[in-house]
Amino acid sequence: MTASFPRAEVVIDLDAVRHNVALLAGRAAGSAVMAVVKADAYGHGAVPVARAAVEAGATWLGTCSLGEALDLRRAGLSVRLFSWLDVPEVDFGPGILADIDLGVSSVDELRRIATAAQQVGRRARVHLKIDTGLSRNGCQPADWPELVAAAAASSDVDVVAVWSHLACADEPGHPSIDIQAKRFADAYDTARAAGLDPLRHLANSAAVLTRPDLHFDLVRPGIAMYGLNPVPQHEDLRPAMTFRAAVALTKRLPAGESVSYGHTWTAERDTTVALVPAGYADGVPRSLSGRMDVWLGGRRRAVVGRVCMDQVVVDCGDDTPAVGEEVVLFADGRAGEPTAREWADKLGTIDYEIVTSMYRPRVQRRYLGERP
Ligand SMILES: *Cc1c(COP(=O)(O)O)cnc(C)c1O
Repeated sequence: MTASFPRAEVVIDLDAVRHNVALLAGRAAGSAVMAVVKADAYGHGAVPVARAAVEAGATWLGTCSLGEALDLRRAGLSVRLFSWLDVPEVDFGPGILADIDLGVSSVDELRRIATAAQQVGRRARVHLKIDTGLSRNGCQPADWPELVAAAAASSDVDVVAVWSHLACADEPGHPSIDIQAKRFADAYDTARAAGLDPLRHLANSAAVLTRPDLHFDLVRPGIAMYGLNPVPQHEDLRPAMTFRAAVALTKRLPAGESVSYGHTWTAERDTTVALVPAGYADGVPRSLSGRMDVWLGGRRRAVVGRVCMDQVVVDCGDDTPAVGEEVVLFADGRAGEPTAREWADKLGTIDYEIVTSMYRPRVQRRYLGERP
C-alpha cells in the first residue's frame, strides 16, 4: 500500500452503474430511461454517474432541483434533463434557456414558468404532475382539470408529459399501487380530452422491476442504478459504491484493557487491535458502535468500542494486519463484506440514506471505469 493511500475513500464503480442501467433499460424495453441523479447521484457523484448512465442507454436525466440540472448541462450532458421540485423563488429562465424540462404541480407554478418563458423568449417544456396518492407535490385530482386547461391554453409552455410518483412500489402487491395507477389513467384521459398528447411516466426503480404495465413511455429509476435493490425478489444488480480505508496502526492489547470512549468493550484475552482512521465524521454512524464489522484480511472482524469522530478500532485476535492494509467498511458484499444494506438494516433505515450521506469533505471519491 502506498503512502498516498487516503485516510478513507469512497470508490464508485462506473461499470457497475452501466451494468445496472443496461439491466433496467432491458427490463423497460420499449420505454426510455430517465436516470435519476438527484442529490449528487445518491452520493455517487452526479456528473460521472450521469455520463455512465448515458453511455449505458439512458436518454434522460432526472434531478430534484433546477440547480442540479443546470450543473449537468454545464458539465456537457446534452440529453433531455428534467427537474421537478423547485422553490417559488427560483428563476426558471436559465433552466428554460438550457432546455431543461420542468415539473409542474399547480396553476401557480405554471404561471411562474410561463412568465419566465415570456421573459427569455422561449417556450418552456413542462411535465404536469398529478398527485395520485403520495400526497407530496403534484396537483390534487380536484384541481387537475384546471391545471390541464391552463397548460393547454398557454402559448408559453409545451406540455411534454403527465407524470406521478408511487408511494409503495417497493412492496409489490400493495393495494395503493393499483389505486394510484387508476388515478393516473384518469388524469391522462383528462389531458387527452383537453387536446394534449403527452408522454406518461410513473415508474421508479421498484416499479421498473415489478410492474411492466406501469412503464409507459419513460421510466425513472434511481436506487437500482446504484445497484441497491428496492424489492424483495433477487435482482442481478451490482452495488456501485465501496467505502474503504486502511489500517493506520496495530497494537497488542493485554486482557482486561478497554477500548475507546466510555470503555464499552474490554479485551477478555490478549488480542491485537487495528486502528482504522474513519469515524462518524467520515460517514461511519456512531450508532453502529458495538454492532458493526469490517472486512480485513479476507474476513469479517468486529469493530470494538465506540465509533469515534475520526477512527474505529477493530479486534484482530491473534492476527496482525499490516499497516496500510485495506479495510472495507462496506462494499457489494460478494465476498462477504458488509453492505450498505446491512448498515441500513441495523440502523432502521434504508440503504438510500446510507449512500446519500457518504459525501464527506474528508473522504476522497475515486471512480473506476471512467471513460475519456
Ligand atoms: C427519487 C425519485 C425517483 C427514483 O426513485 P427510486 O426509488 O430511487 O428508483 C423517481 N421519481 C421521483 C419523482 C423521485 O423523487
